[in-house]
Amino acid sequence: MRLQGSNILSRKQVDLLKKTRLNFVWFPKDFERIYQQQYRQEAAYEFRYRGMIIFILYLYLSFGIYQVLPKDHVWAWLSYYSWVGVIVLAAWMMSFIKKFTPWFDHYVCLGSALSVAISFILVNSLEGIKNTALLHTAMMYAVIIIYGFVGLRFYTALIAGWGGGLLGLLVSKHLNADIDWTLLNRTYTFSSFLGMSLAYFTDRQHRENFLQNCIIEHSHLELVQQAQQLSKLSQLDALTGLANRRYLDEVLENEWHRAIRYSSPLTIMMIDIDYFKLYNDALGHVQGDECLKRIALLLSTVTAENSDTLVVRYGGEEFLLLFPRTNAEEAQQQAERLIKETHQLAIPHPSSFIAPYVTLSIGVATMIPQADERISEFIISADHALYLAKRKGRNQYQITNNQPTIARAIAE
Ligand code: GH3
Ligand code: MG
Ligand code: MG
Repeated sequence: MRLQGSNILSRKQVDLLKKTRLNFVWFPKDFERIYQQQYRQEAAYEFRYRGMIIFILYLYLSFGIYQVLPKDHVWAWLSYYSWVGVIVLAAWMMSFIKKFTPWFDHYVCLGSALSVAISFILVNSLEGIKNTALLHTAMMYAVIIIYGFVGLRFYTALIAGWGGGLLGLLVSKHLNADIDWTLLNRTYTFSSFLGMSLAYFTDRQHRENFLQNCIIEHSHLELVQQAQQLSKLSQLDALTGLANRRYLDEVLENEWHRAIRYSSPLTIMMIDIDYFKLYNDALGHVQGDECLKRIALLLSTVTAENSDTLVVRYGGEEFLLLFPRTNAEEAQQQAERLIKETHQLAIPHPSSFIAPYVTLSIGVATMIPQADERISEFIISADHALYLAKRKGRNQYQITNNQPTIARAIAE
């Protein structure tokens, strides 16, 4: 049976089940329910071919018995024994109907019990031919098939095998049959115990496979989670927690093509902290790192209203902001806001030549990209704008609107 696993239990619990519960061929409640659901589906599916094989075996056996039974008894025997064939056929057909799958062990158990009971009654009660080796063989066939081949779980197979025998016994008694226990023990009882051990080890093996698959599923899940975590980590900057350039490359590529498709404007901002080397020199690298984190947080908070905006640590003390569907006018408002909010943050910068606190220079590039244009040039244009902002005195932004750079300085 091709049983899959399940991850409702932790790996430790699965290991514990493997050690403690396999011998009982029964799992704790919820887990047993999941196991049985899977088992029924697989067993019903397999019964589509097993049922056919059982039916062929039945025909083969019936034909053999039919040939050797005395002619005056053969029809009486056949009129009862053909019901076993009807039962096998009915169960086989039911296995093709998905609606009956949840009831697989019920209908197969009932059919099996009835088949054993019929065989049992025939052995004991059919006048003239009762207790013949042939009928006993037919009963042993039924018992072994039920335990070993129809695909019942151990306990269900027990109910079918012994329940069928008990029913057969009661009916035989009711018919005042003369039961030959010595012969019955050699056939029915012996084959029942043999079948039981067969059913037990098969069930145990299925359960062990199931638990093994649970472990495989757990490992698979852990691997997928680790891979996701790794891929996430590989896209993040360790210091600020912002996205890194690797991630930017992916997103920018997508947004670029989307902007081309929909002819929508795309804006990027290249942001650089002014005189940051001097900041480090004056206050130390640790303080410098703190400053980078605070600026990163500020950039994320200011742009948080628009969930499409991507904030990236582009390198060192440079950041890049990507604004999809944002035109030059909106970009200008954003840049103004960023410069203003940085002023308000007022991170002391004792060595800056332009202000007593940390300031930013921003180069903005906005364009509606065309198919023949290149992303690299778009970034270069933002870089140029940043360069211009630096040259013009820092603490300001410059916009390139896909045209010669237009200076827009904010007066202090
Ligand atoms: P400008 O106004 O022209 O941008 O001057 P600047 O000093 O900011 O520019 P420069 O490129 O000369 O210096 C960048 C500095 O950023 C140098 C480096 O020490 C600092 N830096 C880069 N990455 C980090 C970092 O991760 N942590 C800290 N503390 N400093 C960093
Ligand atoms: Mg720089
Ligand atoms: Mg700088």
